[in-house]
Amino acid sequence: MTPKKQSIKNLITKFMNYPTKNQILNERIILIKEEIEYFKKWKNREWKTAKKTQIQKEYTKILALRVLVNEISHIHDKEPPSVVATLTPATKNDSASYNHRHKTIYLHDTSIITTLHELGHHLFGKSELLACAYSVHLFKLVFPKSFKKLRWEGHKLLSISTNNKKGNQNYEWKHT
Ligand SMILES: [Zn+2]
Repeated sequence: MTPKKQSIKNLITKFMNYPTKNQILNERIILIKEEIEYFKKWKNREWKTAKKTQIQKEYTKILALRVLVNEISHIHDKEPPSVVATLTPATKNDSASYNHRHKTIYLHDTSIITTLHELGHHLFGKSELLACAYSVHLFKLVFPKSFKKLRWEGHKLLSISTNNKKGNQNYEWKHT
């Protein structure tokens, strides 16, 4: 990235008020015991099955992510949001988002951490820090090995997995 592009990027990051890595990791977020336990079970059931699926893998992963969003919302005593997924190559680089008015999560890939981030907005509102802290801390607890493989780039967490150069846990977001 050229210095000019980098400075524009920094400016956008500042303008969007994204928290830093330290702010995210130091934020004390209270996770509910039931949601941690449910998430662990989901990892070994729904997500494991989806990862093994040979046909329509991405579609199966979206179904699994919907189940996760629904169950965690119920644990928080909240109506689950709608989850709309557009997984065409044209939308691949678009960021996920959450629409507060329509209570809808829009996904463009099958990243767990991104889904948790948008779910964080549904549960806790517009605060970037809360949504970041919620998704990062919950993911770290249940997927410790995957978490270690992520690298930070500003406010983003990127996968260094080899099967997808752009990263399948590409942690990038925007909001409407
Ligand atoms: Zn956000």
